[in-house]
Amino acid sequence: MEIYAGFDLGGTYLKYGVIDTQGRVLQDDTVNTPEEVEELFLLLETVWDNIQSLHHSNIKAAGFGFPGIFNAREQRIIQSPNCPQIDGHALVPSLEKFISVPFFLDNEANFAAYGEYKAGAGKGAQSLVLLTIGTGIGTGIILSGQLWQGACGFAGELGHVTVNPTGEKCSCGNRGCLETEVSSQKIVSCYEQYRESKEELAAEEIARRAANGDEAALQTYSQVGSYLGIGLSIIINLLNPEKILLGGGVMESGEWLLPAAFEEAKRRSFTASYNCCLIEQTQLGNKAGFIGAALWARDHLTKPRS
Ligand SMILES: [Zn+2]
Repeated sequence: MEIYAGFDLGGTYLKYGVIDTQGRVLQDDTVNTPEEVEELFLLLETVWDNIQSLHHSNIKAAGFGFPGIFNAREQRIIQSPNCPQIDGHALVPSLEKFISVPFFLDNEANFAAYGEYKAGAGKGAQSLVLLTIGTGIGTGIILSGQLWQGACGFAGELGHVTVNPTGEKCSCGNRGCLETEVSSQKIVSCYEQYRESKEELAAEEIARRAANGDEAALQTYSQVGSYLGIGLSIIINLLNPEKILLGGGVMESGEWLLPAAFEEAKRRSFTASYNCCLIEQTQLGNKAGFIGAALWARDHLTKPRS
């Protein structure tokens, strides 16, 4: 049996798994992301050895999704606000030391979009934009059935588009980026402000309070949702995609966030474009990244590395 491995590195977790030719997940797991780059590659080597021995060396290709701005020409992450230990690191030589099958690298959000496009909520669509909203915002774009990587591979950084010029400072150096205004941390800090309290609560607790009619929690979701709506309207007016797929931990409180987001997006985009765009939740959840990486490896095995 031919199988393919996918890896999805995040600032907190490394998710990985293997799929068969049909895209069925045969095995997957999640481990913590080490803080040092040397430890990270040692971990990848250990994981690789384990899955190779479990699957009797049937792995034909692998995909590795890394967070941050990926330079496709140099096959490096040049800036990763959420995982700075890999900035500038020579990824290919480090992986070649222990991986003997063809492998492919890209930004993890691009692979997540590819996964949803091939095997999830985007199946059948010719154009879609994926937003994964958690501690940051990852974006991947499929246009005319192709992953849009941009001229140099840097496309899909909607998380760092300004939605509030006077907003909070972002780790990218800008201010008021979509990901500073729409994130789990922003829900927490916004709730503190509305409540005029220093008690730091988990985002899940704030969602529970919204469900119980807590006014400050409802105001929080209204504000954060409005900024998400600005982001959605930018996508809709710029690309007129068939679908926008929303995933990530923050979407667990989508029930509270989305009404304000939809209202704002509708107000700010062309009606015809808004009406023909389906905005849905993702289907593959936090597995989209590694599934997409593995599917990309499967689909590009016969092509030169891009
Ligand atoms: Zn930013």
